[in-house]
Amino acid sequence: MTAVLALLEFAPGTGATTGFRLVDPAQPHLTVTDLAATRGDGIFETARVVDGRVQALEAHLERLAQSARMLELPAPTLPLWRDAINAVAVALAAAGVADGSIKFVLTRGIEGGQVPTGWVLGLPSPDFTRERAEGIRIVLLDRGYRHDVAHTSPWLLAGAKTLSYAVNRAVLREAARRGADDALFVSSDGYLLEGAVSSLLLRVGSRLVTPRVDIGILAGTTQADVFNWAELQGFTTGYELLTPGDLATADAAWLVSSVRHAAPVRAVDGVERPIDAELTARINAALDGRID
Ligand code: PLP
Repeated sequence: MTAVLALLEFAPGTGATTGFRLVDPAQPHLTVTDLAATRGDGIFETARVVDGRVQALEAHLERLAQSARMLELPAPTLPLWRDAINAVAVALAAAGVADGSIKFVLTRGIEGGQVPTGWVLGLPSPDFTRERAEGIRIVLLDRGYRHDVAHTSPWLLAGAKTLSYAVNRAVLREAARRGADDALFVSSDGYLLEGAVSSLLLRVGSRLVTPRVDIGILAGTTQADVFNWAELQGFTTGYELLTPGDLATADAAWLVSSVRHAAPVRAVDGVERPIDAELTARINAALDGRID
């Protein structure tokens, strides 16, 4: 598989980003005592790349900086990260990958050291044509935290995009065991949160709503772009506390994310529900067409 890799360089002591270099992705680059490997102690972002252009790059960089603040990691020097990410995107296009994804990672570095580790990896994107057209079956799974967890227990890092994604993978296995494609987390006090790697969107008439982002979930870059587009199309939009009842009665529902874009929800806990194929196609055309 085609891959393009850049390693970030950091100043010992301050941990400030100082530059980057493109390296051979087939060679080993990560030390086994890196805290990414031993503790999942780091942060990441994944963005979509179309023809060498990274979609929503500024929003992803802002969220990387926000996650770094939450984990008390050295602040990433965004101009250098932007250059590294763009260099990988351009190299990916030059290698013939028109539709790709870019993952950028910042870790606390090697155990006992004071220097972070960072890299940017570009890969071809998987094909999501079927999920986008036919929709996905989801199950609601209790996350075990109340919706106010970000306020009561900030050390749980709810709402930071950390490398500790074993739980986000486990819920997909649980969803598969229940005959579904994806999962939607629900707070222990009964509010809809987010997918394993996606945000929830509902359409109620000419209004699009998504869960409030102060309830321990990621502020989705894709959801934000859908809202910006939808407002231009005459929809109203809102961030709300939503319940499974709201999902059941909504006219349409989607899980949206940077690489898959909008996947319509066609069943919840085994109960079929209608999908809005026409609006799904319009949303995905708008998301595919983003040039920044
Ligand atoms: N929520 C979680 C837990 C995620 O992992 C992701 C993306 O990976 C999202 C939401 C959607 O975010 P974005 O639209 O920025 O990709």
